[in-house]
Amino acid sequence: MSATNRPKWLPWQRLLAASLTRPAELADRFGLDPAPLAAVTARYPMRINPYYLSLIEQPGDPIWRQAVPDPREMNDTVCPTDPLGEEEHSPVPSLVHKYRDRALLLAAGQCAMYCRFCTRKRKVGTIGMATATTSEQLEPALAYLERTPAIHDVLISGGDPLLLPDRQLIWLLTRLRRIPHLEIIRLGSRVPCTLPQRVTHKLAAALKKFHPLYINTHFNHPRELTPEAAEACRRLADAGIPLGNQTVLLKGVNDDAATIRQLMRGLLKIRVKPYYLFQGDLSRGTDHFRTPVAQGLAIMRELIGHTSGLATPTFALDAPEGRGKIPLTPDYVQSLGDKLAFVNYQGIPCQYPNPDG
Ligand SMILES: *Cc1c(COP(=O)(O)O)cnc(C)c1O
Ligand code: SF4
Repeated sequence: MSATNRPKWLPWQRLLAASLTRPAELADRFGLDPAPLAAVTARYPMRINPYYLSLIEQPGDPIWRQAVPDPREMNDTVCPTDPLGEEEHSPVPSLVHKYRDRALLLAAGQCAMYCRFCTRKRKVGTIGMATATTSEQLEPALAYLERTPAIHDVLISGGDPLLLPDRQLIWLLTRLRRIPHLEIIRLGSRVPCTLPQRVTHKLAAALKKFHPLYINTHFNHPRELTPEAAEACRRLADAGIPLGNQTVLLKGVNDDAATIRQLMRGLLKIRVKPYYLFQGDLSRGTDHFRTPVAQGLAIMRELIGHTSGLATPTFALDAPEGRGKIPLTPDYVQSLGDKLAFVNYQGIPCQYPNPDG
């Protein structure tokens, strides 16, 4: 896709306001039966903004599957509602403190698009989330961060923190920057992928004042790497913000090595370093997206050594019940004795004389 044949976009607030949220609108556009979709959106909200909608080429394609409700969401009998035990690890509202030195702050209730596979789909876009995001309601979380010097790294997520109005985001970052032991602030945002128009020059200039600030974004398919997304990432990277990416392995969207390789290489070209490739979480309503772990390991085998180390994310599983992220790495070691026996990335057996300790 070249920059020249892309439409001129409205300002991001107006794009967001023009999102498809009612199944009837979607049904009209694509000639579908709205009834089964209505049952799904009654439980899990739909929001497809005009930009992300424009990436759909045909029903059932990898963009469609991420955005359009599917009746299978209602038939999930495998996945629990709080798969990561976030509620148990939440000492105060809106904060998850699972790892000693870093914490997750849930500071936004909406997203630019409601991903059908979302880990927090029981909450995002619903009343349960929206109420926890006003400045006042974040005070207990901010107080917890202030009195917990072991935390050096705060990850702001939600929902999507880049959907906060500039003023509110700046307020939050200012408050966090006043806490001396918070060395690193990270934003987790899908906005560069799902609503890149949100990344205005003004936003990038404002974010620049809060370094060291990192942004982890979330692209799942090479077709999301548009000129608009590239421009959003360019503005952020030019503001000195290191950009990382997490991808979720999704059945029917990106579950093959060629797609993942193309995505990872494409991310590097727009100055985004692949960080995590996630095995699907056990989140209620998303079972139809989950892939076998062996398939993810096979994909990693086709990346490691075959493409740049920079383009190789860590494949990880967020363990059920809040046990944390566990790296899943293909096994190259065959035996570990005074000779280490292993295979290289091409499957060729090798040995390494292993010294005594
Ligand atoms: C993922 C996550 C983090 C950050 O983990 P990193 O591996 O450092 O990126 C922190 N807190 C929670 C609850 C998380 O799920
Ligand atoms: S942007 Fe992130 S939090 Fe929001 S719906 Fe998508 S996966 Fe969930």
